[in-house]
Order: sequence, then structure tokens, then C-alpha cells
Amino acid sequence: MRYSGLIEKYRDRLPVTDATPVISIGEGNTPLIELVNLPRILGSEVRIYAKFEGLNPTGSFKDRGMTMAVTKAVESGSKAIICASTGNTSASAAAYAARAGIGCFVLIPEGKIALGKLAQAMMHGSTVIQIQGNFDDGMRLVQELSAQMPVALVNSVNPFRLQGQKTIAFEVIEALGDAPDYHVLPVGNAGNISAHWMGYSESVCQQTEACGLCQGQCPYHPPLARASKRPVMVGNQAAGSAPFLRGAMVDNPETIATAIRIGHPMSWSLAWAAVRESGGWFNECSDEEILASQALLARHEGIFCEPSSATGFAGLIKDLKTGRIRNGSSIVCTLTGHGLKDPDTAIAQSSKPHVVAAERDAIAALIARHL
Ligand SMILES: *Cc1c(COP(=O)(O)O)cnc(C)c1O
Repeated sequence: MRYSGLIEKYRDRLPVTDATPVISIGEGNTPLIELVNLPRILGSEVRIYAKFEGLNPTGSFKDRGMTMAVTKAVESGSKAIICASTGNTSASAAAYAARAGIGCFVLIPEGKIALGKLAQAMMHGSTVIQIQGNFDDGMRLVQELSAQMPVALVNSVNPFRLQGQKTIAFEVIEALGDAPDYHVLPVGNAGNISAHWMGYSESVCQQTEACGLCQGQCPYHPPLARASKRPVMVGNQAAGSAPFLRGAMVDNPETIATAIRIGHPMSWSLAWAAVRESGGWFNECSDEEILASQALLARHEGIFCEPSSATGFAGLIKDLKTGRIRNGSSIVCTLTGHGLKDPDTAIAQSSKPHVVAAERDAIAALIARHL
């Protein structure tokens, strides 16, 4: 059967009815890629799977939440949506609004948004508003504006966002046959870690006595895979933007990982609950560690994710080194967005192209030096 987006696939687990006008661009169904080189290079005997969310329609996991948020906005009669964004939310909102034929307003921090994301918001025809402030300022403003004006707020304080994003856990369970031992990911506004936990929690059969581990009898959703357990959740932050490590909000967050440059996360309590209930923890990673792990994934696994996405993997490297995550574990790492979003950061940290004459001998000499 043709895949037509996560709402169609998981409609029994999502707040939609047959009358809901589904707005989809085929999001979800992203590959779970086993890392074949890095466990050995890191000297760890673990199985690591990358859930590559960069392969969503607009290149980040935000599409999972946006298909739900825009679908529900259209269902309730909204003619326009609004969001604050570090980049990917605006790219996704702009695309889904275009698909739905409604207006879209995005507030982005001036000068602190990756080039590809800005291009997307502009190309999809949204009204791009660069504010002279950071994401947290934008978040406060869109909450005020959406309360006063006929525009639907589609940041992750919109509960439908987390509903859509929880489907990532369903896909992981289907691919592995059960939940992994650990699930690691980057944390910014903290909606995604909360949504992961919601998805895993809903996948553990609550009625084991009545129906066994479902076995097709569960009234909840028989055809879909169910899990016997939930993973330990590990949230990873950039050191300059790490309110969960500080235990308090951070007023002037700074990091090269612009998608998680957030000091006042909206899903504060939900994220703490996910980490505490799962027996997990938070890590902080320096910008150097983040860029190094982005390069490792690109050079040894062929997976190009953006710096924010690599923060989850940077934290995992620490936990493997310290032994906090033990040998023999299975680990899923959500790579939240595609590396092409932020070409400037990628080029700045890579070696420059060789400039040579368009002559066979010159090129042959260069190849010989690098063989
Ligand atoms: C939005 C985003 C994050 C952070 O997700 P939260 O739900 O805000 O914690 C991480 N990485 C990328 C690429 C993002 O776009």
C-alpha cells in the first residue's frame, strides 16, 4: 500500500476522525540506520541505530508535529498559523501552510538561523519576521499575538505537535520489534523528548492480563507493534544553552547548534518527567564536541545531520566512554535534522577544495598524493 503520511498510518492513535481534512506531505516513515563503523571506532560493543529525521519532507522531525498541528488548525477553521522558530519549525510550518492553502507567519531570531532553513521559509511563501531578539523572545510574542489575533499557534505548546511527534517511537518499535534499551536525542524546547516518551508509553500494552502482549486482541490498536518495555531516555544539550543541566532557565543561550539555542524550554516539566520516569539523565556537550560528532557521522557512516542533531550523538559518546551506557546495549539516536540545512557550519569546519589546473597530470599527481 502506498505510504501517505503518519496520520493515515497511525490514525487510530491520533486525535483525528474520518471527517478530519488531513494535511500531509508524506512525513514520517524515516529509516532506522544501524551504525556499522562508529561502534568499533569508539571501542564499544553496542548496537547503535540512527533514526534519521533529516529525511522528512522539509528535512527535520518538525514535520511529524506540523502535519498534526496544521491538520487540526484547518479542521477548526483557521486561515493562518504563526510560530516562533530557530529555523526548522518555520520551514515546516511554511511548507504545511502552503500545502493547506492558508497563511503563515514566522518569527525568527535575527542572524541566528541556518541558511537552508531561512531559504525554506521564504520559498514556501510564509511571511518571515526577523525579530531583534532570541527564540525565547519570539516564543513569548507569538503566544501573546495568537491570543489576540485569528492565527493558530503551531509551536510545540500546541498539544497536537507532540501527538504527531510521538509516532517516532511507534516506528522505532516496529523496526526493532521492541523498544531499545536507550533512546538518546538533543533537547532544546524539549517537546521532542516529551513526545518520544509519550509514544513509548502508549506502546507498552496496559492490558497484559486481558490480552497478553496484545497478540492481535488488544482493543487499542491490534495491527501495530507493541513494546514490552520503555527505553531509558537521555537528553543532550549544548553547554551554552543547557537549562536542564543548570536546573533553571538560562537567559542568554549561546551555541553553534542554533536549533537548540533555547534557554526557556516550554516542555520543562514533561521533559523532566520523561527523564525521571525512565531512569535517564541529561548531558551537556561543548560546541567542539558537537561539531566533532557531526563530522564522525558524516565521515564514517555517510550520514549528514545538522549540528543540533549531532548533539544527541555527542552525548552518547560521553556515556559510552564513562560506561554509563554499558556494552551489550541497544541504543537509538534521533538525528533530528539534515546537514544541508546549515551549509555554512559544514563548510567552515571542512578542508577546502584543492584548486588545480584543468590538466590530467596535475590531477593525477594530486590523486597519487592522496591514495
Ligand atoms: C527543534 C529541533 C531540536 C530540538 O527539539 P525540541 O523539541 O525543541 O527539544 C533539535 N534538533 C533540531 C534539528 C531541531 O529542529
